Amino acid sequence: LKTLRLILGDQLNHQHSWFKEYQEHITYVFMEMRQETDYVVHHIQKILGFFKAMRNFAEYIEERDHQVIYFKINDKGNKQELQKNLENLISEKDFEKFEYQLPDEYRLDEQLKKICKEIDIKTEAYDTEHFFTTRDELEKFYSGKKQMVMEYFYREMRRKHDILMMNAKDPEGGKWNFDKSNRKKWKGDPEIPHERGFRKDLTNLLKEIEQAEIKTMGEVQAKSFNWPTSREDSLSVLNYFCKNLLVHFGDYQDALHTDQAYLFHSRLSFALNTKMISPREVIDSVIGYYYDHKDEIDISQVEGFVRQILGWREYMRGIYWKEMPGYKRSNRLRNQNDLPDFYWDAKTKMNCMHHSIKNSLENAYAHHIQRLMITGNYALLTETHPDHVDQWYLGIYIDAIEWVEITNTRGMSQFADGGIVATKPYVSSGSYINKMSNYCGNCHYKVSKKTGEDSCPFNSLYWNFLDSNRENFEGNQRMNMMLSLLDKKDSREMDEIRERAKKII
Ligand code: SF4
Repeated sequence: LKTLRLILGDQLNHQHSWFKEYQEHITYVFMEMRQETDYVVHHIQKILGFFKAMRNFAEYIEERDHQVIYFKINDKGNKQELQKNLENLISEKDFEKFEYQLPDEYRLDEQLKKICKEIDIKTEAYDTEHFFTTRDELEKFYSGKKQMVMEYFYREMRRKHDILMMNAKDPEGGKWNFDKSNRKKWKGDPEIPHERGFRKDLTNLLKEIEQAEIKTMGEVQAKSFNWPTSREDSLSVLNYFCKNLLVHFGDYQDALHTDQAYLFHSRLSFALNTKMISPREVIDSVIGYYYDHKDEIDISQVEGFVRQILGWREYMRGIYWKEMPGYKRSNRLRNQNDLPDFYWDAKTKMNCMHHSIKNSLENAYAHHIQRLMITGNYALLTETHPDHVDQWYLGIYIDAIEWVEITNTRGMSQFADGGIVATKPYVSSGSYINKMSNYCGNCHYKVSKKTGEDSCPFNSLYWNFLDSNRENFEGNQRMNMMLSLLDKKDSREMDEIRERAKKII
């Protein structure tokens, strides 16, 4: 049957079985569409990155003789909507079958199911052959269990896929988790190698995006675009990480610094989430490098990295498919506020917020602690509606696709799911930020003060959050210590804290 196969922007998997051999009756289609550029305001680097990576991938398979149809954003025949483009193509070119890979977004999954019902030809869906787990594997793993804890899922993944194991039962290094040794503050030493950049000239592509008048946020230096946009680039980022950054990754994965946007982080998330590179090959390379350099690299650096990819990443995907579509409406703490304007221009006197947002606007990137414990923490403490938080995170980060974004914002960061992902809310006062960063030294606010105009906003907001959400956390053992510290505060201090917090909010 004459077949049309769809490839979405985050399905750039060179190793997919679809591409093993050339088949004359098959045509692949790629679409740059307003449907995808406009469902949220994206960072300009995100749109550039996706379009460039899609174009590179289309070129790659075309060079291997596959037949390709590519809709560029300004092409005349591009109807800017998936269904319209598909229907036109099918009738114009007489396709007899339509095939697609299961999308990772609920929205697109629903849309494709609807399209398949409405078009008059045979259809078939395939796996993306990217993740370690299937969509429903997590649900099956936890079925009948009282509580979902990522750690048990992660251990099962290690066993099942024989990753960092000494034998069928025992983990490499004698422990499953080295999280406690992954919490160092970076004080200028060891030296951080420059990030693996690419300095690609994407000026022409930027002009196309401008011509299409797509609304974007953030900044870009289109003459030196720094993200990987091909399989080759992605492998090079992976190799660079193994050789130069892995040695200190675990130690400093939670550290924050005014002058360092990336520290020892790999910056592989965009390559991974577009599937230019697979989690299996990332883990194999990292572990292979570790086994070859055991005298230089400690297991704690490697385990911390593997936990992110094999544990958290797969876990969040499983939660997404288990909990959608209701998850998107969750707002357990009934928060209602808007995000402050400074999330779009970094103009705030809070040094931690200024640097975290500035990094995000300049690079379409911030590492997990900046996202979780600075901008996410502040949004939760100021009672922001999770819809606004989602829109900001989904738009600003180059690696943000809903399955991984929403589980991290609503679940991990905003406690909107009431504790499905995180067993306690990830909130902190200024003292955690001070412990992990050099932000507070030069801040307008004083981290040591809880009340008064010059007090660190995170302090009063933190105690106010515990105070005003107390009934949600009573009975949660992990919150006992925080609540008993709250109880020790005298009523005058609490009144001052509430007043200061109210003013900030
Ligand atoms: Fe952030 Fe408070 Fe430290 Fe300023 S003092 S950098 S607001 S934590």
